[in-house]
Amino acid sequence: MGKRVLITGAAGFLGSHLCDRFIKEGCEVFGMDNLLTGSLSNIEHLFPVKEFTFYNHDVSKFVHVPGDLDYILHFASPASPIDYLQMPIQTLKVGSLGTHNLLGLALAKKARILVASTSEVYGDPQVHPQTEDYWGHVNPIGPRGVYDEAKRFQEAITMAYHNYHGLETRIVRIFNTYGPRMRLDDGRALPAFLSQAIRGEDLTVFGDGSQTRSFCYVDDLVEGIYRLLLSDCHMPVNVGNPDEITIKEFAEEVIELIGSSSKVIYHPLPEDDPKRRRPDISKAKEVLGWEPRVSRSEGLKTTCEYFKKELA
Ligand code: UDP
Repeated sequence: MGKRVLITGAAGFLGSHLCDRFIKEGCEVFGMDNLLTGSLSNIEHLFPVKEFTFYNHDVSKFVHVPGDLDYILHFASPASPIDYLQMPIQTLKVGSLGTHNLLGLALAKKARILVASTSEVYGDPQVHPQTEDYWGHVNPIGPRGVYDEAKRFQEAITMAYHNYHGLETRIVRIFNTYGPRMRLDDGRALPAFLSQAIRGEDLTVFGDGSQTRSFCYVDDLVEGIYRLLLSDCHMPVNVGNPDEITIKEFAEEVIELIGSSSKVIYHPLPEDDPKRRRPDISKAKEVLGWEPRVSRSEGLKTTCEYFKKELA
């Protein structure tokens, strides 16, 4: 019999791709989402699949799932800077209360739980590239604090359940990821630039564009997460693509890819915006035998097709 898997944030970008993957692996998948930032259109193709069940539920409230569970993947949370600025309390609750509820559920069901952490736990990093043993540089009361500290608390309580209760836990630190089903209007650089270039609008670079990011294609990320879940590693593991680029160069790359006549325009840099970000993935390579395979040019082409369809 296939494993029974609960995926929270199932209607979101990453959650929906994870639902697809676990269905493909022959699992019975219970997708949970309160549709705050997720969209049913990301999972409607799964509704006819008998191994898939959807629960419209907010995991910050007590979570009930009937029957056994083998795995829980906690991916529910607003995840773009604009989203968590607009929903600061929900962001804090889903990372703290939501994680606590799911850890309790995992304990009751004797399930293994993987929680989605983030490169944001490193804040505006003073160590580059970021290794898992770096503790981070986070402003708790800044605009990003609601997300960063919720995720740091999430890691702390997950380790506590592992150490105190012996629960089987996994922590993935996810770096910037993109691909089809990413929301077009979540304010992030990649969807903003692609939509702007496709529409022929100017691309809004924040600051002077010298800050860097490293973008991972969603299929690579899902593979890394799948391997981490099945591994025996309870310590946090970075999963992301180390191919680092400045935001200004990235904007120019998108304009060239689309063949657009758009220009780059400059807007003020948001508060506490990390200056440099690139994962050190030595640990993922060693422990999971994983590294990304999809280049940015390849991944952007696929993502661009999706964006064009959505915008049409
Ligand atoms: N950014 C930008 N223009 C936009 C949106 C974002 O220049 O329209 C910048 C943002 O300030 C940051 C980088 O692009 O330095 C990546 O931002 P994103 O929101 O994608 O995610 P982050 O990595 O900051 O969480």
